[in-house]
Amino acid sequence: MPICENCGQKWPWKTVVKNTVKLTNKAKCPYCEKNQYLIPKSRRLTGIFSYIPAFLIITLTLFLDLNGIGIFLLAIALMIVFLGLYPFMMKLSNDEQLPTYKLE
Ligand SMILES: [Zn+2]
Repeated sequence: MPICENCGQKWPWKTVVKNTVKLTNKAKCPYCEKNQYLIPKSRRLTGIFSYIPAFLIITLTLFLDLNGIGIFLLAIALMIVFLGLYPFMMKLSNDEQLPTYKLE
């Protein structure tokens, strides 16, 4: 689980998922109210991780002969599973850590 770099508190799973769903990597710490940035521990791992659900859906569709609703339900189930695992790969930082230099 991600730990706030400012106050050292462990963030609840719910907070991380909420921000992942919002598609933002900037989040306010629920303990010290300082802005933190969610960064993947390993960018390569996250890349692989985001392809697994799509790969599983295609493979299972071929093997299980699913109809439209079946594929839809399968996609939702996989999304929930991966969303549940996602916070374990996140790390918090005081800085945004962009690959480019910040203009200040
Ligand atoms: Zn904090």
